[in-house]
Order: sequence, then C-alpha cells, then structure tokens
Amino acid sequence: MSSNIGVMGHPIGHTKSPVFQQAGLDELGIDETFEAWDVMPEELSEKVATFRDKNFLAACVTLPHKQAVIPLVDELTEAAEAVGAVNWIFNRDGKLVGHNTDSTGFLRALREKAGFDPRGVDAVVFGAGGAARAIVYALKIAGVARLTIANRTVSKAQALASDFSEGRFKPVAIGLDRDELANCAPYATLLVNATSLGMAGGPAEMATPITADMISADAMGYDAVYAPPVTTFLREVENAGGTSAGGMTMLVYQGIEGFEMATGQKAPVDTMFAAIEKALKSG
Ligand code: NAP
Repeated sequence: MSSNIGVMGHPIGHTKSPVFQQAGLDELGIDETFEAWDVMPEELSEKVATFRDKNFLAACVTLPHKQAVIPLVDELTEAAEAVGAVNWIFNRDGKLVGHNTDSTGFLRALREKAGFDPRGVDAVVFGAGGAARAIVYALKIAGVARLTIANRTVSKAQALASDFSEGRFKPVAIGLDRDELANCAPYATLLVNATSLGMAGGPAEMATPITADMISADAMGYDAVYAPPVTTFLREVENAGGTSAGGMTMLVYQGIEGFEMATGQKAPVDTMFAAIEKALKSG
C-alpha cells in the first residue's frame, strides 16, 4: 500500500526530498514513509485522484508536473496563483489545495542561511523558467529596489517582467549578451542563477550565465541549482570576492513549509538540514 506523503515527478530518481523529509517525520515520531513516485504525464490525473483518500496528507510536486496539476486540484493558494505553478498539494478532507513554497523557500534560504536581506537592493535574476518565476515573485514581495531579468530567450524574460510589473516594481528584461549584462550586473548586490546552466547531468554542466569580471566584490550570488553544490557560477562569484550560496537551502526550506502544512507540526529544521548535508557528503 502506498504511503500518505511523498514527492511525485518524472523522472524522480534524482530527488533528495525523501532524505530530509523522512528525517523530519522520524524525529517527530510520525509513522509515515515519505515516498518518491515516478508518475508519467499520462498517469497524472489518476495519481492525483488518489490524494483525496481519507488518510492522505500531501504530495510535493516536481518537474514536469508543476503546471499540469493545476486543473486537477480544487483550489489554489495566492502563492500558487501568482507563481503559476504548484509544488505542493494538500488533502483537506477530500478537497485538494495546490500551493507554491518555492518563493518563500528561496527567501528563507537567502535570509536565514545566507544572512542576506534583499529589501532595497539592485538584483539580477538569470533565467525565465519556473524557478525564475518563483524567485522574481519572492523578490517583488521582499521589496528589491531594482530587478533585471536576463534570459537566453529575451521574449520569455519580457513576459515574466510584464507579468509581475506593478506600481514602482518594473523589472527590466534583457538577454545574456555580455554587452547587456555589463550595464546592470556589476552594479547589482544580488545575483541569482535560476537557469539550468551548471546543473549536473544537464546540457551545460560547466557553464555560467556570468563571469567574475562583471560581478561586484559586494555581491551575494545565489544559485537555484543544488547539484553540484558548488557550480561554476558560484565559483565566479567567489573569484570576484563576493559571497555565494547553493540551492540546497531553497530546496530544504520549500520542503519545510510543505512539511509543516502537511503535518500541522513545527518541522525539526536542524535535523532536516543535517540529513541532507550528510547525504550530499556521502554522495
Ligand atoms: P525551466 O523552467 O526549464 O527553465 C530553464 C531556464 O534555463 C530557462 O530560463 C532557460 O532559458 C535556461 N537555459 C536552459 N539551458 C540554457 C542554456 N544552454 N543557455 C542559457 N540558458 C539556458 O527550469 P526551472 O524549473 O526553472 O529550473 C531551473 C534550475 O533551477 C534547475 O537547475 C532546477 O534544478 C533548479 N531549481 C531549484 C530549486 C530549488 O529548490 N533549489 C527549485 C526549482 C528549480 P530559455 O528560456 O532561453 O530556454
């Protein structure tokens, strides 16, 4: 029989979520196994229907299902509406609520682990896909002063900028050319890689959206990529004299909010971080 909590995606072999979620469940004495479900797109609606079962708690949702589950749930939270993606589904007495914790996960990672408050800063986000969308929403809420969205496909950066433009918050969209980056990146104190450049197993594992010569020594560089833990982008930030942090903290904090909403209990944060750090060290 299947467990009442887990993560679904396709493929799912790479997921690190069960490692730290199980550590949290065990620490609180919750008798559940956090499973990883490999769900093909054509199996998605059948799988989501099982989430209405009486004892079912919640499912974390990862690629490629974050948008596809939207019509399959009964209600979306404000965060899920704004980001346009669901990364958690909660069962509330048979009613399925879709939520997004990537934005708050990113902000907690930045503030609580990297010690960086984005309020009032100049920021550049590289990328315009799902992760970038959650991060742009987070930076809007956090009150950055100026935001540039730099993406290989400029039209996608423009669409993202326009979706979140409101009042004085008007993100500027550019490409990844050095000439364009030279006008904003050296003046930014927050640089966030939300592209898949640098991702292990991806098409451009050693690539970076920017090099040290265009990074300020005062900059904080955050990489949404969490495998490998240190990417070429983060090395370039360090080479410029800046401070760097990898995406593992965002991954764990998005999971911690999901854990707390699923169980109704405060997550044992230190235990959950210790579990993933141990797992990453042992490969
Ligand atoms: P996505 O929706 O597929 O977007 C991919 C982004 O990367 C797009 O902006 C794309 O640009 C860009 N890109 C891909 N290949 C490129 C290349 N060769 N040169 C330049 N740009 C390229 O993926 P996503 O869901 O946003 O995920 C992006 C990364 O964030 C992944 O590595 C993922 O693992 C990570 N992530 C981490 C967390 C976390 O909790 N830490 C959460 C979500 C995602 P185009 O628009 O031009 O194609």
